[in-house]
Amino acid sequence: LGRCNLRCIYCQNYEISHGQDSRPVKARELAMVMLALQAGGAHNVNFVTPTHVVPQIIEALVLAAQEGFRLPLVYNSGGYEKQETLRILEGVFDIYMPDFKYWDPGIAQELSGIRDYPEVARRALKEMHRQVGDLEVKEGLAKRGLLVRHLVLPGNLGGTASILEYLAREVSPGTFVNVMDQYRPAYRAKERPPLDRRPSPGEIREAMEAAKRLSLRGPDHNSATG
Ligand code: SF4
Repeated sequence: LGRCNLRCIYCQNYEISHGQDSRPVKARELAMVMLALQAGGAHNVNFVTPTHVVPQIIEALVLAAQEGFRLPLVYNSGGYEKQETLRILEGVFDIYMPDFKYWDPGIAQELSGIRDYPEVARRALKEMHRQVGDLEVKEGLAKRGLLVRHLVLPGNLGGTASILEYLAREVSPGTFVNVMDQYRPAYRAKERPPLDRRPSPGEIREAMEAAKRLSLRGPDHNSATG
């Protein structure tokens, strides 16, 4: 368990995502964890950055299903996913929860080590939406669909307006987007200003207003979550 397919220089969880704090588990052990979560009353099982262990998750899922596992599954990732892999997952995951981090390839290279991130994420999000559609929320709980997260970076390094416009125009006008304001410098962020500071209130406001202007659904900028 652990690791990530990106290498963000501001990662808050770098001990886990960069591998120092991860450990191997067998498919049966993972299946038992899933069953224990179900028995404990969990509403869903959320796999965080599972891209590099998809075959092992499927193996565990088959074992868990044989023992009565029925909870919805959440695919929670950095957004850097191959379309071919996502196609294999059609019908397996109920909720896709990807980030869309950057619009500019140069920034993606500099901050996460992956130049083609924007292009790959654009294709991935379209494929996710094709599979599960807009987010459906019932009684305050996400049931099925696509929930995109976008972390506002200082100095607009993420290219927020372009990302939100893409989601509204090319993915779906009903896309649910969580525009997140909690960025704080971590790991090597201090070496790369303006990542060494939090986004200003004005930068956050601008990002929220862009989401509102496009009528995108979301927890803060538009209360229509259903
Ligand atoms: S995608 Fe998230 S978990 Fe992975 S390195 Fe980047 S910030 Fe860390």
